[in-house]
Amino acid sequence: MTTTDAPLGDLTGRRAQAIEDYRTLKAQGRVLDLTRGKPAPEQLDLAQDLLSLPAGRWTAADGTDCRNYGGLKGLPELREIFAPVFQVPAERLLAAGNSSLELMHDCVVHALLSKVPGAVRRWADETRVAFLCPVPGYDRHFALSERFGIDLVPVPMSDEGPDLEVVERLVADDPTIKGIWCVPKYSNPSGVSYSDQVVERLAAMPTAAPDFRILWDNAYAAHHLTDEEVEILDLLGACEAHGHADRALVFGSTSKITFAGAGVGFFGASQANVDWLLAKSGKRSIGPDKVNQLRHAQFLRDTDGVRTHMKAHRALLQPKFELVLDVLEQELGGTGLARWTTPKGGYFISLELVHGGASEVVRLASEAGTALTPAGATHPYGDDPHDATIRIAPSFPSLTDLRHAVTGLATCVRLVGYERQLSR
Ligand code: PMP
Repeated sequence: MTTTDAPLGDLTGRRAQAIEDYRTLKAQGRVLDLTRGKPAPEQLDLAQDLLSLPAGRWTAADGTDCRNYGGLKGLPELREIFAPVFQVPAERLLAAGNSSLELMHDCVVHALLSKVPGAVRRWADETRVAFLCPVPGYDRHFALSERFGIDLVPVPMSDEGPDLEVVERLVADDPTIKGIWCVPKYSNPSGVSYSDQVVERLAAMPTAAPDFRILWDNAYAAHHLTDEEVEILDLLGACEAHGHADRALVFGSTSKITFAGAGVGFFGASQANVDWLLAKSGKRSIGPDKVNQLRHAQFLRDTDGVRTHMKAHRALLQPKFELVLDVLEQELGGTGLARWTTPKGGYFISLELVHGGASEVVRLASEAGTALTPAGATHPYGDDPHDATIRIAPSFPSLTDLRHAVTGLATCVRLVGYERQLSR
């Protein structure tokens, strides 16, 4: 977080300037969208060659005819490429459909309907199932859990990951806490990466539930924005070392590597968990789209190929993040109204309003034409107790649109912030 200085000078004058700037913003009548972290068309163009692959070939390295049924675990050569990316041995990394979110969904549903390894009973037969949710966090994790009646328990985040004092206390005492949602690298939306100590403690902590699971959504594993390519500790390895091999469920995908709608999702875990998921997913599908997996393997070639490709993404994304940070500094630096994160990777910047009023800011921005993720979306049940967090997704708009949208957002922050300061 960038901490800003205390406000100085004439608040009334500042508010008057903010009102004037807001009028101008509205009069410009530009319609922009900063809601979701979608790749920009130029980023999708980077993987355009996928559309002409697999170029008349259909045979995998092991001779599998990719056009045919079968191969539930996914194409071995693609699993080899992504094993180091997701820190899962290739034999325990599954390549599945086009989305990791659907794998998370399936794991939750299967855990409700069939006992996970180590469970006494199915989660559907428990009186209560609860997941810990480090906040701010990813709204789709919350929505998925809510859909199945899983209670959500917020846990504060530090700049090293979830507050482990809180997590350890809750999981030690309460057997109804069955899981924790984690985005361990360049987290959505704060950009935080978990420290080694946090990963180690998550792996080691005693849990009252014998079937406790860490849902490790490593969506931004390869998505660096600076030369400091953050590496996190290998959770699966740490869990094994602490005698909790079945605790970790690892998810990832190429959604923000190749095509967001036509990539490949991955799942990795202990052998027992992998066998459990395969047994269930074998009832749902005869096998994944191996032709898509083959074209991905041909296109990316090897793990280094993934790194090289991600550098091309970085070249497009980094200027957008820098622009947002520059505008925030110019417009809000020194005002004492807001703090924001400076992520080293991922897709989001998290803006925190010192005096609250995020819903009001989002409403005003929307009335001026800029759509933002709803305030509260970063918290379970949409309930941000301080109404403080706004998620900024810089990837999709052009640089020109982004400058306009973030300047407008900052205008709304000034308007609401000074208003609140004056009414105190
Ligand atoms: N997890 C996180 C943390 C994300 O930010 C996103 C995309 N916004 C997803 C999962 C979705 O992944 P997929 O496209 O693989 O379903």
